[in-house]
Amino acid sequence: MSTGFAIKEVNKAGKYIESYNGEQINYDLLVIIPTNTGDPVIVDSEMDDGSTYVPTDKNTMKALNHKNVYVLGDATNVPTSKAGSVAHYEAEVVTENLLAEINGKKPQPKYDGHSTCFIVSEKGKAYLVDFNYDTEPLFGTYPFPGIGPFSLLKETRINWQGKLGFERLYWNTLLPGKNMFLPPTMSMTGKKQNPD
Ligand SMILES: Cc1cc2nc3c(=O)[nH]c(=O)nc-3n(C[C@H](O)[C@H](O)[C@H](O)COP(=O)(O)OP(=O)(O)OC[C@H]3O[C@@H](n4cnc5c(N)ncnc54)[C@H](O)[C@@H]3O)c2cc1C
Repeated sequence: MSTGFAIKEVNKAGKYIESYNGEQINYDLLVIIPTNTGDPVIVDSEMDDGSTYVPTDKNTMKALNHKNVYVLGDATNVPTSKAGSVAHYEAEVVTENLLAEINGKKPQPKYDGHSTCFIVSEKGKAYLVDFNYDTEPLFGTYPFPGIGPFSLLKETRINWQGKLGFERLYWNTLLPGKNMFLPPTMSMTGKKQNPD
């Protein structure tokens, strides 16, 4: 394994990649993930700080350098993953804080970096991870402690079925606001450092 490898060149004929400091690694199959950047519209709007993301208070989701602006999803520079679940959880906090401000109250620092992601490992199996700014993924069950039906940090068939079923759940339950069991902040109930 080689860390901190910044690719300068892909040599197709020689089947190797070379870094800026001259390190070479041979490959059979090369899969490269480009550096993640913000949308050009953010840069064009000059709301970023040179990073292509909008500087954002990581707990209230309020823009740091612009009045009356909230930011969520891939546009923010908050230190959690760029993921659909993050945009969803942040949207709940943004909604609450907008309503608070409209009613003359202060925005609350409610967002904790919560992210929940299925990770498909092969057809028929998937992992599920749940974490926030301060807590790395832990073992346990989700969304109901001790019941599940999904297993955190484990590769299971039920997690795979959850990934497939989530689309229907999302459109029919979560988007219309029937959000009974998925609060925006991470729950530590039933979470543990080690598997059973
Ligand atoms: C290949 C891929 C796979 C992914 N898989 C997962 C996954 O399995 N699970 C997960 O949780 N997340 C996943 N993500 C991440 C997830 O899709 C994003 O984090 C999420 O969509 C961010 O939501 P958003 O609303 O911030 O931005 P977006 O969903 O990107 O929405 C931004 C919208 O703004 C529009 N827009 C851009 N410029 C303008 C303009 N000038 N005027 C008007 N509209 C404009 C765009 O067309 C777009 O519709 C994946 C992302 C990619 C690229």
